[in-house]
Amino acid sequence: MIFAIIFFFGLVFGSFGYVLALRYDGDHFLLDPKIVGGRSYCPHCHKTLRWFELIPLVSFLVQRGRCRSCNVRIGFIYPAIEISLGFLFVFIAMRVQDLYGIALGTDFGILVALWIAFFFALFLLSIIDIRLGIIPDEINLFLAVIALSIIGFTAMRFSPIDFSLLGEYSILFGLANTIWINHLVGAALGVFIFGGLVAITRGNGMGMGDAKLAVPLGFLFGWPGILFLSAFSFIVGAIVGLFFIAFGKKTMKSAVPFGPFLVLGSLFVFFYGFGFVNWYFHLMGI
Ligand SMILES: [Zn+2]
Repeated sequence: MIFAIIFFFGLVFGSFGYVLALRYDGDHFLLDPKIVGGRSYCPHCHKTLRWFELIPLVSFLVQRGRCRSCNVRIGFIYPAIEISLGFLFVFIAMRVQDLYGIALGTDFGILVALWIAFFFALFLLSIIDIRLGIIPDEINLFLAVIALSIIGFTAMRFSPIDFSLLGEYSILFGLANTIWINHLVGAALGVFIFGGLVAITRGNGMGMGDAKLAVPLGFLFGWPGILFLSAFSFIVGAIVGLFFIAFGKKTMKSAVPFGPFLVLGSLFVFFYGFGFVNWYFHLMGI
């Protein structure tokens, strides 16, 4: 039941978030009334949508994927994004239960809300970075506040000695015994890696937005989580970049926005960080 509600929240936030990310123009504040306000309308016939046409997924199914006024096809991207966010929210809730070893309750509710807020902001950031090639400062600031809340809450309510996305393996990397130092080192390392890359490439390729994003990511995922996150995003980014070049969509010079790869890296560390390290050490026979 609780997971059905979380799924529904995912649908609603997916629907709202996608529109928000599409409306963002880079000039106004993300939550400016000009961006957030204003009724949704059909991009084809410009007719304002009625309230029941805004119900995620249901309206799409009832209208068989067409606009009620002009019959133009509504892209499948809308329901696809809504369903994806629904599942993402549910998976986050399941992972939180697993990660913290907690049952349903207040702690669960607070942690799920915080982690969902974090990944929802990353979802907005990905679409905006793909569209405009920028990462809004207000999103990075929001991520920093949420990251601080998650680590603060974790330190307060759970054994801070054990907490790491890499579980007991984090001990191998040192620093695991003090949650604040561990996560401050993560943030510093994030700035060092990505700030360094911005300086070396003089802003071509990696942008200041990516370096700023590395602060909340480094702080939340800590040491050595940020290391895994960076490695994963570089590898996937390189593969996708080569793919684009091979198919002539991009040249070596045109930059592929890097924010979405950092988001993929975050998902990887959050969901599979421990599993991956565990698999690797078993493979090595340790
Ligand atoms: Zn229409």
